[in-house]
Amino acid sequence: MSHVSGVHFLQIPGPTNVPERVLRAIDRATIDHRGPGFAALTLEIAEQIKPVFATAGPVVIYAASGTGAWEAALVNTLSPGDRVLMVETGQFAALWSKLATRLGLEVEVIPGDWRHGVDPDAVAARLSDDRAHAIKAVAIVHNETSTGVTSRVADVRAAIDRTGHPALFFVDTISSLASIDYRHDEWGVDVTVGGSQKGLMLPPGLAFNAVSEKALAASRSARMPRSYWAWDEILAANRDGYFPYTPATNLLYGLREALHMLHEEGLQNVFARHARHGEATRRAARGWGLELLALDPREYSNTLTALLVPDGADADALRATILDRFDMSLGVGLGKLKGRVFRIGHLGSFNDLMLAGTLSGVQMGLELSGIAHGDGVSPALAYLANPTPALAAV
Ligand SMILES: *Cc1c(COP(=O)(O)O)cnc(C)c1O
Repeated sequence: MSHVSGVHFLQIPGPTNVPERVLRAIDRATIDHRGPGFAALTLEIAEQIKPVFATAGPVVIYAASGTGAWEAALVNTLSPGDRVLMVETGQFAALWSKLATRLGLEVEVIPGDWRHGVDPDAVAARLSDDRAHAIKAVAIVHNETSTGVTSRVADVRAAIDRTGHPALFFVDTISSLASIDYRHDEWGVDVTVGGSQKGLMLPPGLAFNAVSEKALAASRSARMPRSYWAWDEILAANRDGYFPYTPATNLLYGLREALHMLHEEGLQNVFARHARHGEATRRAARGWGLELLALDPREYSNTLTALLVPDGADADALRATILDRFDMSLGVGLGKLKGRVFRIGHLGSFNDLMLAGTLSGVQMGLELSGIAHGDGVSPALAYLANPTPALAAV
């Protein structure tokens, strides 16, 4: 392979670009995870990570990909044969329901068109019908990474509350955490699932469960078999700054640095930055004349944008051209969207000029691929130069 000069643009919606500060933090000698120096690291992270989930409660950290934290949420709180209500917002929601089925849970799926988020009224209607309270949990994806649709979690919570149904509430925030406003405590979420490689700007390898009091109580009577994922031993060891087994020490160095960076910038500023980049990307899409997969403006994702290519065009060929010519990776169309959709990730360690380069690469790729398009870069740059009125609808 010949050398490719300059910086690779990793504009898939995770893993995201890992900033130098995080790389340098990871690049240190591994220490004894049972020694005194290690406890200070764990205890600092345990406090600094709480505002990222907007919780006062504990956050369990696993050496795993995000999928592990899905499994952890289910096996810690449920019993074999329990009924779980899920909503098919896209590929990730479908994979979570498949995982739950494989674990022996009874999964009931509210079907979806992969262009909308969770309909709060549909969840409420199903829960109202469930007078016997057979449904033990509602599990949804906050930001559906396959479609670029962000569900309105607060509205789903309010809809559940209207029914008075006692089901637990689980939310996957793997591609929204530390990028899009999210509030574990305020929105009454029982388990929030997170991962390291998207908004948290880390390499893959850490996964999270933020856990409510209600979820902890459920875990005491839950009968799903669990060992590696069991919260009780981890939380007990964490109290003194340790883990029951070897943690991913160097990724924890990186996590500490990433948390410092997020707090230095300020979480509200981080959310505003992602909102600005989401809006600029959507303006580019309009300029190109490409259709957004997301149909409801209330649900536009600020961490990624999924775009449909015109009939007869091949999104994978476009992505291959852009990778070959401009050394930029874009997200593939997942599941039934294969070939019809490409996704632009604009999350994590990212700024205006990186977005300008990303959008330029897409526009040149459209040109080279012979896909009819207008100028999307100019309206996006005009917006980035003067992003006021902030996020007004266009
Ligand atoms: C990336 C992602 C996952 C999968 O996480 P892995 O780390 O690949 O296991 C799950 N859900 C959402 C919403 C994601 O974006």
